[in-house]
Amino acid sequence: MAQGRKGRLNYRCPACFMRDLDIDMFYDKDKDEYYCLRCQFTGSEEDVLAMNEQIKKKYKVMLKRITVDDYAD
Ligand SMILES: [Zn+2]
Repeated sequence: MAQGRKGRLNYRCPACFMRDLDIDMFYDKDKDEYYCLRCQFTGSEEDVLAMNEQIKKKYKVMLKRITVDDYAD
């Protein structure tokens, strides 16, 4: 059996993504948690999904702002 293999789905680490790093998380099936090797973020599937949703909302706002700035230029 492979150790430290990825979960059913590949989730991007939300903590790293906030720093513009696109890191896939690993799945610990003993704890039923996802974890990131880079930043030590650990969370359940729900935690990861909830954080990703928050980031998506933030990114939408940021993209909007950039678009408006480009327009003003
Ligand atoms: Zn991370």
